[in-house]
Amino acid sequence: MVAAPGFKVGILGAGQLGRMLAQAGRPLGVNCKFWSDREESCCAGLGEIVASRYEDELLARRFGSGLDVVTFEFENIPAETLRTLSEHARTAPPPLALEVSQDRLKEKELFRSLGMQTAPFVAVSDLPSAHAAANALGFPLILKTRRLGYDGKGQALVNSSSEIETAMATLGGVDLIAEGFVRFSREISMLAARNGTGKIAFYDPVLNLHAGGILRCSIAPAPQISAEQLSALRENTVRLLNALNYIGVIAIEFFEVGGGYLANEFAPRVHNSGHWTIDGAKTSQFETHLRAILGQPFAPTTTLGRNAMLNLIGALPAPDFSAGQSVYLHLYGKTPRPGRKVGHINIRAPQYSDLSMKVQELCTVPGVSDASAEIESFCARYLA
Ligand code: AMP
Repeated sequence: MVAAPGFKVGILGAGQLGRMLAQAGRPLGVNCKFWSDREESCCAGLGEIVASRYEDELLARRFGSGLDVVTFEFENIPAETLRTLSEHARTAPPPLALEVSQDRLKEKELFRSLGMQTAPFVAVSDLPSAHAAANALGFPLILKTRRLGYDGKGQALVNSSSEIETAMATLGGVDLIAEGFVRFSREISMLAARNGTGKIAFYDPVLNLHAGGILRCSIAPAPQISAEQLSALRENTVRLLNALNYIGVIAIEFFEVGGGYLANEFAPRVHNSGHWTIDGAKTSQFETHLRAILGQPFAPTTTLGRNAMLNLIGALPAPDFSAGQSVYLHLYGKTPRPGRKVGHINIRAPQYSDLSMKVQELCTVPGVSDASAEIESFCARYLA
């Protein structure tokens, strides 16, 4: 890759993931061109930005012209747009992966068909089918919109039959999936990449803390994972990647239950729980994605030390914030708004105990996290 500059990559979406892809590509001679439907972008100065709705069919036919490959960093683009693009240019990951990931029902059905364990689930299309689902699953259950859910949006916890109707109304009367409520011990994500020759590169499993439906903190490698657990996570990942004939980086989220894993969802793109790889792995998830989609050999994805990632949500650290040794601040150039991811901090340490101290210290800095209590107990539980 070092010796092959001049690649041109098209990216649908121009948020922070596009920004970090372009930043990873720059030193390698990769030029990016973005398609964005927003006025505000995180990718100014990092390549040409074409502004249009993702439904723009004419652009879908033209966008890939002169590009080596087109990829996406945003899941809510119409699958048809990616299909059209793929008729005119090389696209990766494949449109099928996007389509499946956009529909929680199809996603869980695919997991199940591949022998991957999931939470029990039932499709819901109206009130009688919701009551039937509740009979099958019991309470509590979670109702989720099949499409367009992210960061905990589009879901409702239902504790009794009397709450079903209100929950359905809140979710907007669209097609839903009902899931049994899983009392998981931890949330683990797997990041991996597959290339066109079928070779797969893995990152170490990541332990994630969510609060209010948003990822707050990731730890890598996830502590307390046995060799059997690691091979189960990898086996699941391989099955999904091969079934989708996948090319690029994928992230799969799992619930850990009694030492085993239930697959919850996957993202067919670089992922927030892989941001630590910028400073904590030999090759970041962003470079690995570019390598996979450009048909270049993988570089080592080995973890360096023990790592944490803290998401900056809705606020920036004070202007006099100084990162310090083995602490890396990444800002996305976004205006802070409540609930908005505006940056992240990567932290590296030789041992989990040092990592825990550094993370807790950072949480006391104004503007770093509004979930410091949750992060503190998370650290105490897993990094002690
Ligand atoms: P999702 O959008 O499916 O990733 O859900 C957002 C968060 O809600 C997950 O990270 C979990 O913390 C929680 N969650 C989702 N599905 C379930 C479930 N079936 N049982 C318990 N918690 C869940």
